[in-house]
Amino acid sequence: MEILIAEPKGFCFGVKRSIDMVEKALKEGKKNIQIFGPIVHNPQQIKLLEEKGVKMVNSIDEIQPGTVFVRAHGVSPEVFRKLKEKGVVDIIDATCPFVKVEQEYAKKLAEEGYQVIIIGEKNHPEALGAQGYAPGSIIIGSVEEARALKEVPKIGAVVQTTLEPEAVDDIVAELYHKAKEVRVFNTICQSTKMRQPAAKKVAEQVDLMIVVGGKNSGNTRRLAEVCSRIKPTYHIETAAELKKEWFEGMKKVGISAGASTPEFIIDEVIEAIKKMDGSSKKTSKKKSEK
Ligand code: SF4
Repeated sequence: MEILIAEPKGFCFGVKRSIDMVEKALKEGKKNIQIFGPIVHNPQQIKLLEEKGVKMVNSIDEIQPGTVFVRAHGVSPEVFRKLKEKGVVDIIDATCPFVKVEQEYAKKLAEEGYQVIIIGEKNHPEALGAQGYAPGSIIIGSVEEARALKEVPKIGAVVQTTLEPEAVDDIVAELYHKAKEVRVFNTICQSTKMRQPAAKKVAEQVDLMIVVGGKNSGNTRRLAEVCSRIKPTYHIETAAELKKEWFEGMKKVGISAGASTPEFIIDEVIEAIKKMDGSSKKTSKKKSEK
C-alpha cells in the first residue's frame, strides 16, 4: 500500500506562532499561564500544554491573576476590555496576523458605513471575534443565508480565514443581489489556500483519504468535507481510531492534516497505517503548487 501525504500538513504559521509564544512564556518562568479559549483546536496539543502547567479557561470569570494568552483565532475588543477590567495586566495577544487583517478590514468597513457581512461559521470563535470589531455586522455561512439578507445601499464583506474558496465564491455572488455597492476582502489565509488544493490533489490519486485533526477544528473538518467529495474519507483525531478493515484492498491511501494538528500525531498515524498493511511500499509527499 502506498501512502501519499498532502503538503502542507500540521501546524500552520499562526498556530505554530501561538504555541511558540506559550512555550517562550513557560521558559521565561511566567506565573499562572492561562489561555482564553483553546489556543488551537486540537485536544492532544491542549493536553500537552496542560501537562506543562498551562490552564485553559473558557470564561472571563475563571481568569485568575497571572498571564493570559489570547488565542490564534482572536477575540473581540469587548473581551480585551473585560480582561483589562478584571485587572489582568499581562495579556499576551497570540492572535494570528491573518486573523488580525480580517478584524481590521471588518472595523474599517463598519467605520465607512458598510453593512458588514462576515462570511464564516456562526459559532466559530474567529467569526465571533471579528464581529466584535464591526458593530451591527452579520455572520453568514451559506448561500441561503445570503439570500435572506435585506437589501442595503452598501455591503462590505470579510471572510473567515479557513473557509473553502469555492463556497465563498457562491455566497459572494449572492451578495451582489443585495446592494448596489459590494466590497469584499478575501481574507482566506495563505495556509488554507495551499492546504485545501493539496488535499484535493492527493484525494484524486488515492483510493482512500485519512484526514487527521481535532473534531472541533473547523479547517480540519473542511479538509475532510473537501476530500469526501472526491474519495471515501475518514476524519480521525489520533491513530487509535484507525480500523484495519478500512484499508482492505486499498492500493493507495492519502493523508492530509489540519492546521492545528501536531506533527507527532501525524507521524503516529502514518506509522500505524504502515503497520496495517504488511506490503507497505513507500511514503510520498505531494507538495502543493503555489
Ligand atoms: S489557519 Fe491561517 S489564519 Fe488560522 S491560525 Fe493558521 S495561518 Fe492563521
